[in-house]
Amino acid sequence: MFNALVIDQENDQQTVSIKNLEESALPQEEVLIDVDYSSINYKDGLAITGKGKIVRQFPLVPGIDLAGTVSDSKHPCYKTGDKVILTGWGVGENHWGGLAEKASLKAEWLVPLPESLTSKQAMIIGTAGFTAMLCVMALEDYGLKPEDGEILVTGASGGVGSVAVTLLANLGYKVAAVTGRPENADLLTSLGASRIVSRSELEEKARPLDKQLWAGAVDTVGSKVLAKVLSQVNYNGAVAACGLAGGFDLPTTVMPFILRNVALLGVDSVMCPYEKRKAAWHRLAELLPDAFYEQATTEIGLKEAPEYAEKITLGQVTGRTLVKL
Ligand code: NAP
Repeated sequence: MFNALVIDQENDQQTVSIKNLEESALPQEEVLIDVDYSSINYKDGLAITGKGKIVRQFPLVPGIDLAGTVSDSKHPCYKTGDKVILTGWGVGENHWGGLAEKASLKAEWLVPLPESLTSKQAMIIGTAGFTAMLCVMALEDYGLKPEDGEILVTGASGGVGSVAVTLLANLGYKVAAVTGRPENADLLTSLGASRIVSRSELEEKARPLDKQLWAGAVDTVGSKVLAKVLSQVNYNGAVAACGLAGGFDLPTTVMPFILRNVALLGVDSVMCPYEKRKAAWHRLAELLPDAFYEQATTEIGLKEAPEYAEKITLGQVTGRTLVKL
């Protein structure tokens, strides 16, 4: 038997409860995992509260990421006792996810836990940190270098933003952190931000082209904030866009693209191919300093998951929320 957070539907209404289930209730996939840690991401918030159409089949265990230990495997790549990480692939959306003591998953969805990381550290990083690494890799692949100038990170006190600030600062970039919560300024500075930009400055209506301020940006917010960022990026600069915390629209013009050669780089973590996934996890393990794991983390149990799901959709969560299973 194992405990799981289960989303179900009654009379078209979504219900969320903790259930004690038989192992046979799990989907029958190749690798059975004892989950050590999962986490609450923005998408989990939307799924658990029902505020976003994330869950399309019921009952479903949410949790888009997990780190755990293989307890049984029908696949040659994994054996009992192996430590693994899962993010993406629709797990926690249309396949049972990490907010349970056990999970049954396809081998191709997993990556081995890098040796220098614990399960807990992997979930402090989680989907959010993994996505932040993909954004940084997108800017690097585009050719941006620390000497090109300042990099702006929006939604900086969130899960993706806080890791992006840390990674960029550790790679030698000068980082400006955008936040709507001035009380998080000290935290962002301790992660490596060299200055704090008020979110309200970026919420003003964007002109087609504004003063050039940033060599590049990691944007987790979308909408008018991303439009403003695009209008302020230097000639030949690039923006890695991964999020929609401020909305999924983009009220911009073609001017930054056609007059300043600005590139808008889309970043998706869900379907990221295995080799890139493995490379990103190795870079995360190598780049994040020990101090990173000591801050901006709240550890909760399964019971508190619905409360934190609500909070993350209201923008009230700072850093990462870990769920210990
Ligand atoms: P999060 O922890 O909730 O962080 C989002 C941050 O954005 C908040 O902490 C807040 O930062 C800011 N924010 C919140 N509401 C806002 C608003 N209305 N307008 C402007 N800024 C707002 O979420 P997360 O896990 O970091 O995820 C960030 C975004 O990336 C989400 O949209 C998520 O869906 C997306 N995401 C995408 C992928 C992918 O594969 N593409 C993967 C993971 C996440 P401040 O208080 O500091 O301003």
